[in-house]
Formats: sequence, structure tokens, C-alpha cells
Amino acid sequence: MDVSSNLEVSDQKNEAGLLTDGFHLLIDALKLNNVQTIYGVPGIPITDFGRLAQAAGIRVLSFRHEQNAGNAAAIAGYLTKKPGICLTVSAPGFLNGLTSLAHATTNCWPMILISGSSEREVVDLMQGDYEEMDQLAIAKPLCKAAYRILHAKDIGIGVARAIRAAVSGRPGGVYLDIPGSLLGQVMDEVEGKKTLVKVIDPAPDQLPSPTSIVRALKTIENAKRPLIVLGKGAAYAQEDELVREFVEKSGIPFLPMSMAKGLLPDTHEQCAGAARSLVLKDSDVVIMIGARLNWLLSHGKGKSWGEPHSTKFVQIDIEPKEMDSNVEIVAPIVGDIGSCLSALVNTMGEGWKKPSVEWVDAIKAKKDTNIARMTSKLQNNNSPMDYEGALGAIKNIIKNRPNSILVNEGANTLDFARSIIDMYQPRKRLDVGTWGVMGIGMGSAIAAAVETGEAVLAVEGDSAFGFSGMEVETICRYNLPVCIVVFNNNGIYRGTDINVSGTKDVATTVFVENSRYDKMMEAFGGIGENATNPDELAQAINRAMDSGKPTLINAVIDPHAGKESGNIGNLNPQSIVSRK
Ligand code: ADP
Ligand code: MG
Repeated sequence: MDVSSNLEVSDQKNEAGLLTDGFHLLIDALKLNNVQTIYGVPGIPITDFGRLAQAAGIRVLSFRHEQNAGNAAAIAGYLTKKPGICLTVSAPGFLNGLTSLAHATTNCWPMILISGSSEREVVDLMQGDYEEMDQLAIAKPLCKAAYRILHAKDIGIGVARAIRAAVSGRPGGVYLDIPGSLLGQVMDEVEGKKTLVKVIDPAPDQLPSPTSIVRALKTIENAKRPLIVLGKGAAYAQEDELVREFVEKSGIPFLPMSMAKGLLPDTHEQCAGAARSLVLKDSDVVIMIGARLNWLLSHGKGKSWGEPHSTKFVQIDIEPKEMDSNVEIVAPIVGDIGSCLSALVNTMGEGWKKPSVEWVDAIKAKKDTNIARMTSKLQNNNSPMDYEGALGAIKNIIKNRPNSILVNEGANTLDFARSIIDMYQPRKRLDVGTWGVMGIGMGSAIAAAVETGEAVLAVEGDSAFGFSGMEVETICRYNLPVCIVVFNNNGIYRGTDINVSGTKDVATTVFVENSRYDKMMEAFGGIGENATNPDELAQAINRAMDSGKPTLINAVIDPHAGKESGNIGNLNPQSIVSRK
């Protein structure tokens, strides 16, 4: 279809008046609901849609692979509390986008995957259409809701449903199926306009019951060693001042989950991040705020929780079904974080008793020991670098540039960075989320730069980077202030594995030795740097962040540094059987 014909369609008339079509109605519906950016990959049948959306003032960013566009949309949802929009072509493009849709859903982030699809009549009779696939059925189990729009007059309501499903209650991913023929359907412009729906109050407040507040405060009051766990749901809620008020008024030590780091500064005196094992093991009452008792917290039970000693849980969550998901929640508070925290703060009263000095001092002593033990390691200037030296340099950079957004993925690169780099502001740390998925790096970096306008520093394992590395072209194309640091240790986990079979292939976890990832960035007009020690690394990052130019720094890491699967090696089964 020729774009000029579509641009002109609204000037065409029938007897009743001006005409519109599916393309324009979809654009108008998105704009009416304040969608400003679309992340996607053009192709059949949505190429013209992208062009027209761009012409209509929506920012349409084209990626090199749908998964990265989808990861961008997912993190845009997290950062803005509005659904991030990903646009894909039918079947294969749709499937490529699905990983990120499922990722958004798993992480409770609002996102809408809009995918073009082939013709219903042909698909349903399995007559072999171009890119034939029953996309709606496939998407359903992987997202919060899935809808298909068949008639132009339903576009307004379809978009409204998608937005509401994505952001209300527990946010998540929504699939919106757009058969190619829908886009070309024509209707009267005035009638079409009447079908559009502006979603009023898409994520209504959900007030907790007063009983649940009183029950929770009683439980907390009776605690000897209370702990607050802040999760990325609390960061998502953007109720930063209320979180601070509750934490400081209660005086209870807090532990931030990975992406909740910076909600309050990691250097806050109540932050127990550097005494994580101790507080999990010894606390007797734990207040979960927008965090789940999933694998990342050992499901709330077992050795790391000090069993057989029993921990009582208070939990704030917007999703009632989250309560008792892994262990008993003695005081569930169901509601949105803002409403729940303000009810708690207002009911606490002036005479609130803060936790005992013994508990606070025990945590402080542990923190001080752990921090002191790390400090000298973080200052080494070894070449090739180890994780501590390289990340020690980056820790200082984030301290001096607390507005910057840190994107982080990898195995060791992730685990070391999470514990070494302090965060100071909310929603500045974007990482692999609930699944621990690799490949979020470039999509997250791009969306972070686009949505916030801040400089982005992406700290990437060499393997993790490979999943989305082609998007360096996208970063250069849109000239985004993104500095990528590839922790290059020649392989997955490490670069030292041996192939014991005697064949000439390298081991399964080994990459090309001494590669120069920086050259990839240079290929597209960005800046490439090679850093062999922490001083060089710091200088190169500072140069990049001062200039705001797309930069990739190849950071030469000792192939022997790090360990298999980083901190979660225990999840990786290993054979103990030896065969001759
Ligand atoms: P983390 O990985 O940091 O522990 P999770 O993603 O596991 O965080 O948990 C986030 C939780 O926050 C989810 O259970 C989700 O339902 C909840 N949540 C998200 N937004 C809100 C909100 N506005 N109010 C209350 N709970 C929320
Ligand atoms: Mg590696």
C-alpha cells in the first residue's frame, strides 16, 4: 500500500462526508490516550502504520529485533506507569515480541504488544496465508489480557480495554491483535471519531481496609527485630515520599530488592543492604512492600530465613492473590502502595516505638564489617581487571552522577554490580528483573534514554550484551546518550573452560578471545574505547557521559574472574556421573 494514499484518506469523501480508516483510528485512539512513543520493527502489515503514526507526531523508534523493542516498551512501562507500546509484524515478528511481553507480565509492568496479523478467514481455515498464525491464542497464556479487533468501529474500545488491562490493579503485558485488513477498513470520519474512548482514571486507587491496617500495625509493634523489604512494585508506584516517610517514621531497617535500590539511597543509615544475610536470617517480622516472596527471596522460608525460627510476614500488594503465595502472610494489606502507606503512616500515631538499639546496632556492626572488607578490593587498579576493581570505578561514577540510569545484566557482572554499586535515586537501576532474563540491555538502555532524557550507563556481561548487541546501530541512529561497558572476559561466566572431547571446537561457554566489542560501536559512527584497567575505564566512562555521545567501552576482564552462573550457581544442575 502506498503511503501517500493513506495520508490523503481523510480528505476523501463519501456522500455523508469525510472518511477515516483503521490506520488513522488506531493512531487517533493512541494519541487520545497520550501515547507518545512506539517501539517496534516495521514490516507487513504495519509498515504504513508506523509511517503514519510518525507523521501524526508519535515518536516511532525502529529497532533491529522485536525482542529489544519489546524490552524497551516493557521498561518504558515501568518508568512511566503508562503502558509501553511495542509494534510488531505478524507471526515471526510477533513471536519475537512475545518474550518481552511475558517478561513485562512477570515483572508486573504495563505494556501493550500491538501486532499485525494475517487474515482471520484464511488463518482460521488453515489455508496457508502469508505468516499464518493464530496469534491471539498463542499470546493469551503469556500475558494479562489479549484482545483482537476486527472492525474499525471497535478500535477505540479495543485500545481502551488494552490500556486499562495493562495499568490497572497489578500491571502487566497486554496483547492487541490487528489483522492487516482492519487497518484498511474505511468509515465516516465523524462517526469514527465518536467511537474513540479516552480512558478515565486507568489505574484507580485501591484503598486498603482499615482492619488490615490495624492488624498490620499490631504485628509490627510486637516485633523485636523488624525489617522492611522494598520491591520494584514500590519503585513502580512512584510514591517515593511516602516510602521515605514510613521507613523513617517507623525507624525500621530496610532491604531494597535489586530494582528498588535507590528508592531510598543505599547509603541511608537504615539501609540494611550490606547486611542482607543477617537481616533475612534474624528478623522476626518482615514488612514486604511491593516485593514478592519468590525465588529471589528463597520463597520466604528455609535456611536463609533462619528456620526453624519463624518469621512473620506483613505484605502490601495490590494483587490479593499474592498473599500466602509461598508462606502464610499474617497481616495482608491489599491496596495500592500509596494508599496503604499513607494509611499506615496516619494510623501509627506520634508515640510510635522505634526498633531496639540492639537490633539496629547488630545490623550496623555487620554492615560496617562487610563494607570495610570490600573497600580495599574495590580500589585495585589491576590489569586485566577483576570485577571488584572495574565495578569500584563505576561505583564512584554513579556516586558522582546519581541522576544517571544504570542498566545492568550478565551473571557475575550483574551479581557483583548489584551489591557493589550504590544507588541514590528511585528507578535508576534497571536490570534483568524477576526472570533474570538476559537480553534486556539495549532495549532498556534505549527506552531509559528516550523516556527520561537522562544519560544511561549500561554495564553488560559480554554474553548478555550479545543478545541485543545489534541495537548499537539503533543507539547511534537516534544519537542517544548511552554508554555501554562490556565486561569482556572471553566467555559465558568465564573464558577459561576446556573442551575435554579433544575435537577442535572450543568449550561451550567460550567466545572468541580478546574480541574488541568497541569496534561494533565505531562501525555505526559511535565512539569505541578499550579499557584495560579501572583508571582507564573510569576516564573513558566519564568522557562518554560528559559528551553524551553513543559509546561502547570494551572492558578487559580477567577470564579467570567470576564464577559459574554468578551468585545462582546452585540453580544450575551439575552432573556428578563420570563416563568413560
Ligand atoms: P521485587 O522483584 O523487587 O521483589 P516484584 O516484582 O517481585 O518485586 O514484586 C512487585 C509487587 O508489587 C507485585 O506483587 C505487584 O503486584 C506489586 N505492585 C505493583 N504495583 C503496585 C502498586 N501500585 N501498589 C501495590 N502493589 C503493587
Ligand atoms: Mg563473560
